[in-house]
Amino acid sequence: MAYSVQIGAVRCHILSDGLHYSDGGGFFGLIPRALWQQVIQPNEQNQIPVDTRSLLIESDAGLILVDTGHGDKLPPKVRTRLGMDDRTLRLVGELARAGFQPEEVDLVLLTHFHGDHAGGATRWEAVDGSPPTLVPVFPRARYIGQRLDLADASFPNERTAATYIADNFRPLLERNQLEIVDGPQRLASSVRTDIAPGHTAALQVVWVESQGECLLFLGDSANWAVQLQRLAWVPAFDTAPLQSMETKRRLRHEALERNALLVFQHDAQVVTGRLVPGTRDPEFHPLLTQPAHFDASR
Ligand SMILES: [Zn+2]
Repeated sequence: MAYSVQIGAVRCHILSDGLHYSDGGGFFGLIPRALWQQVIQPNEQNQIPVDTRSLLIESDAGLILVDTGHGDKLPPKVRTRLGMDDRTLRLVGELARAGFQPEEVDLVLLTHFHGDHAGGATRWEAVDGSPPTLVPVFPRARYIGQRLDLADASFPNERTAATYIADNFRPLLERNQLEIVDGPQRLASSVRTDIAPGHTAALQVVWVESQGECLLFLGDSANWAVQLQRLAWVPAFDTAPLQSMETKRRLRHEALERNALLVFQHDAQVVTGRLVPGTRDPEFHPLLTQPAHFDASR
């Protein structure tokens, strides 16, 4: 589902690359199932539905896309395991529903290089019967990624090898289309990134700020709303869980102070919400929600 939100003078679109299934333990780490199943009910295989959202920003520096979803290069076996349907380029379909073509995207920010965020950066293309080659899905775009995360992606270890696929970023490097940056970036007068380490070494989150309003795209720093409410709820995927907790503490404070509209990248139920002061910890008020079910065709 694509949703549009207005932040001051800036139009944003929350797009989805579709739902897939994932083991519930991955997203909730040390938290016992008896607790997290009160948030999201798993199926018989202990799997939960997971969304894969991107943010499209109509900025004064052009059209900015944050993350690209799984894309279409996953082998059929993996797609079946993830419970993905056979639609192709789902994110591009969402982009079209928001009124844009891939050629119109000026900048693609990869929050990090995990396969469910960078997979849709490239695709296979065969021209006139010649062998297929990997090409950028967004042909005109400048792609941006962090140096430390690209280093990890380029030299994966046994734990990260399954998610760091060179086909997702190497063709961009070869075409000089991937700009490697270090630290927070200003992307447009109303758009900037911040580094939110924990999930990866240099995970990027995105702030949209205009006319006193703001939006925070949390990426994988808190990809389910409950993870921002409860600092100890850290995914098993995170490379530095204690750092994730401190990152969330800081982001939660900033979001609360600025009344930021929060966008959750993987939450199958809560798309957006805001924090409000609570008696001890801040309280979370969901704004845009969707029913979570196991219909992977959404
Ligand atoms: Zn990730």
